[in-house]
Amino acid sequence: MRILFVASECVPFAKAGGLGDVVGALPKALLARGHDVRVLLPKYGFIPAHEMWRHSAPLGVPMGSGEAWCAVWESHLPGSKVPVYFLEHDALFGGPDIYEGEGSLRGAARFGLLSRGAFQLCRALSWIPDVIHVHDWPSAWVPVMLNGVEAQSEFKGTATVLTIHNMAHQPKFPTEALEMLHIGKDELREDSLEDFGHLNPFKGGLYHATMLTTVSPRYAYEIRTPDGGAGLHQAMDMRGADLVGILNGIDDDIWDPATDRYLPAHFSSRDLSGKASCKDWLQREMGLQVRPDVPLFGVVSRLTDQKGLDVVVQVIDRLLDLDAQLVVLGSGDRALEATLRSRDGWEDGRFAAVIGYNEALAHQIEAGADLFLMPSRFEPCGLNQLYSQRYGTLPIVRAVGGLDDTVEQFDPAHGRGTGFKLWNLTPDSLVATCAWAVETYRHHPAAFREMQRRAMTKPMGWDVSARGYEDVYAWALTRRRGS
Ligand code: ADP
Repeated sequence: MRILFVASECVPFAKAGGLGDVVGALPKALLARGHDVRVLLPKYGFIPAHEMWRHSAPLGVPMGSGEAWCAVWESHLPGSKVPVYFLEHDALFGGPDIYEGEGSLRGAARFGLLSRGAFQLCRALSWIPDVIHVHDWPSAWVPVMLNGVEAQSEFKGTATVLTIHNMAHQPKFPTEALEMLHIGKDELREDSLEDFGHLNPFKGGLYHATMLTTVSPRYAYEIRTPDGGAGLHQAMDMRGADLVGILNGIDDDIWDPATDRYLPAHFSSRDLSGKASCKDWLQREMGLQVRPDVPLFGVVSRLTDQKGLDVVVQVIDRLLDLDAQLVVLGSGDRALEATLRSRDGWEDGRFAAVIGYNEALAHQIEAGADLFLMPSRFEPCGLNQLYSQRYGTLPIVRAVGGLDDTVEQFDPAHGRGTGFKLWNLTPDSLVATCAWAVETYRHHPAAFREMQRRAMTKPMGWDVSARGYEDVYAWALTRRRGS
């Protein structure tokens, strides 16, 4: 099958969250299964041009009454032959931010250009995909365009699959963008782009994509309910029969404690001595007391309301009173950043916070901590709890979305479990669950060790998920072509 991924993020070129991990990994798994898969991204100002080459012909993308001219660069996903194309347009993508201009006409032009550019690029390459796989709102313009301005073109047999990574991000744009993007005014209706007088590309994509997927079965259910649907639960419910939940996997090239290039020592489920060295290293690096016996909690997260870290911040003292340590890496909410920063280094070497985005430290925390905190309010899939299990760092999660699907509750009576779950996001419930984990760590080391082994050896690669996507692509094609 010919599959084109159109996305705003892709590891290692551009990443703000889990979407980038998925787009950087799933194409490799699909290629390994024999598909002709390619990726299209914007060439943001921060993406260096080394190890990529520039196509000789510029690409004209119809916009407004003329064309926007872009340069096309090409590279490939590291460690594979998956081609990655980059659309270069300095005025729209030359800045330092992936997501800028949200809500403005310029913001609509940015990913509108990428989406329309996808069709133009395929034409220029004489490569018409069977499926265009788009991701969240930025490339959700593609299904709308395919059913509109491209409806009678050489793409009429092409199906679209929209993967929902997070329903919560739904920027709205002024309706003037319709003309600029050559989208008919008739799409300004409730069962398409219209959202309280504005354009909501996510909503348009939900109605127009041939098939929908999201990143866990549980989240597929949650987004059809008023609580989880972020205002679009009715649309989701209407398309419920076309919605499939497929769990994300782990990219073994990047997240494997036996080979991880960021770690000071390596380890595996058979021999955890390297993990002890990682903990020692992390404690020194973070200015924590260097104590092998103390349970060390780790957090790596965007600091947003979604992640429940406001509750973690409320209970820092109670966690440290368990004779535990806590290290937090994150950025986002300014108030949370300020609170964390103000406490960094104050707790007698028991608490450390690093504000910012730091890829290496994220790996080092996953490896060096004993327990990983992720009490999200909602979580479409979540990757950090997968990484932490792979690294023997048992996750403490709220039983929602993908967290509920991917973490098995500790059950000492039956020798089961890969982590600890809580249901209510309250300070008491979080502390009680953490206390249970600390108690297990300290007083039942054999059970803890056995849980680490189960977590580390659990199959979490992309190959299983890739098969799920193959099925969805096949259904989408059948639906689109009617055979
Ligand atoms: P989300 O996509 O909602 O942010 P996920 O758990 O699905 O949550 O994915 C988050 C990804 O971003 C993980 O790969 C995680 O390691 C990474 N990440 C989040 N915050 C940071 C940070 N401050 N520094 C480095 N990596 C981070």
